[in-house]
Amino acid sequence: MRGPSRHDTVFERLAPPAAAVDAALAPTRHAVFWLEDAGAAPAYPTLTGSASADLAVVGGGYCGLWTAVLAKRRDPGARVVLLEAETVGWAASGRNGGFCEASLTHGEENGRSRWPEEYAVLERLGRENLDAFEADVRGLGLDCQFERTGVLSVAVEPHQVEWLQESARAPDHGFLDAAAVRREIDSPVFLAGDWSRDDCALVHPARLARELARVAAELGVEIHEHTRVTGIDTAASGRVSVHTGAGSVTSDRVALATNVFPSLLRRARLLTVPVYDYVLMTEPLSDAQLASVGWAHRQGLGDLANQFHYSRLTADHRILWGGYDAIYRRRVGAAHEERPETFRRLASHFLTVFPQLEGVSFTHRWAGAIDTSTRFAAFHGLAARGRVAYAAGFTGLGVGATRFAAEVMLDRLAGLTTERTALEMVRRLPLPFPPEPLASAGINLTRWSLDRADRRQGRRNLFLRTLDRVGLGFDS
Ligand SMILES: Cc1cc2nc3c(=O)[nH]c(=O)nc-3n(C[C@H](O)[C@H](O)[C@H](O)COP(=O)(O)OP(=O)(O)OC[C@H]3O[C@@H](n4cnc5c(N)ncnc54)[C@H](O)[C@@H]3O)c2cc1C
Repeated sequence: MRGPSRHDTVFERLAPPAAAVDAALAPTRHAVFWLEDAGAAPAYPTLTGSASADLAVVGGGYCGLWTAVLAKRRDPGARVVLLEAETVGWAASGRNGGFCEASLTHGEENGRSRWPEEYAVLERLGRENLDAFEADVRGLGLDCQFERTGVLSVAVEPHQVEWLQESARAPDHGFLDAAAVRREIDSPVFLAGDWSRDDCALVHPARLARELARVAAELGVEIHEHTRVTGIDTAASGRVSVHTGAGSVTSDRVALATNVFPSLLRRARLLTVPVYDYVLMTEPLSDAQLASVGWAHRQGLGDLANQFHYSRLTADHRILWGGYDAIYRRRVGAAHEERPETFRRLASHFLTVFPQLEGVSFTHRWAGAIDTSTRFAAFHGLAARGRVAYAAGFTGLGVGATRFAAEVMLDRLAGLTTERTALEMVRRLPLPFPPEPLASAGINLTRWSLDRADRRQGRRNLFLRTLDRVGLGFDS
């Protein structure tokens, strides 16, 4: 066994006994809590035969569903068909943390460094998007446990306190010292906090997807599940042919919302890579257990390390605990969702943060693939002389940003010039990842460097500084 090192993180210095981790994980099942909790879902028919549409949407996650709903809002008479390979919301949209953030740029620092000229506009558009999201939750009656509680960022290492003091200067933010942050959420490892009150809401992820599908269907969108699109053909005169296993749709316009799955456009294949993110869910806390933590304001919670955790309460007082390990895989595959060493690490870190919850069990464990792009934020593309639009690359922050991406796709498919389509962020695509084996080598070196920075007061090595300079990176 290795002895303590001065580069150990707080999670290593204050690790709980192995027996406590074993006991907490013992009753865990591999299942997505949110999908179970959302209950039975309506089944939408598989597409057979040929159909015709004004707009065909590929993908039944948030991005595709918002595209379909907003298309019907723009033109109630339009014939909109949505094709989903499996079931609505089964993928990232049904299994995420449910943090619905205003940021369209994966945070302020990333946004300011990549688009300094237009950052103020991006920030405003992001805020407007979150406000419009909230208005739609109410106006469309989306029953998704939306709560605009904000997000509490916490420092767990001394060097992170300084970072917080800077970010907490922004409007609607507030710096909390150790005592104040512990009055919000009580953990002995929290050194300080920044509560950003208005920039983030929490949702029940799977319910949001199902509710968007319900509204889409009520507006007249034809939804087809178990309908995988195998290819699109743009050669035919003016219209696009969308081929599925048992049928096809001929459509004027097509929106591709396939996220981390292989793009139907060859040119977009290297713009994202799958990075697996892992999550644990506790059993419901008793009143006494919840009181020992506080959390009366139910904020989203995240720490500031490069390898960070995110956490939140559910409606029935469970704690979701996810993040930290971000594991790159060459392809999406269910086998990658089981990773015992990561679940053990997460459980151990949870007990370091909340030692008063020793004895609480985890009931669910799951994982999902995140569509990481080299700029950590979504890209928006157009193909086939304006007849096919695509959006992906949300890099772990797509709950809010997919709604914005849907508006962008609809603007562009209609040939409109809007404030959104004029953005450099929208007009320019990110650099692609290199092909294998270079991608693996580069991504693994980046992960190693980020872990090292977390252990050395946040200091970035030459490799990371070079990536920063050329605007390349890797995140979850
Ligand atoms: C564990 C985890 C935690 C996360 N936490 C957060 C968070 O707290 N906050 C946040 O903002 N973001 C978070 N994210 C990211 C967020 O979930 C995604 O950015 C968002 O759900 C993307 O929505 P989407 O519709 O683009 O993708 P998806 O939900 O993946 O939907 C894409 C759909 O396209 C379908 N599809 C793909 N190819 C085809 C084809 N050829 N034919 C037909 N259908 C096809 C798929 O079956 C899938 O249903 C998290 C992600 C994960 C995995």
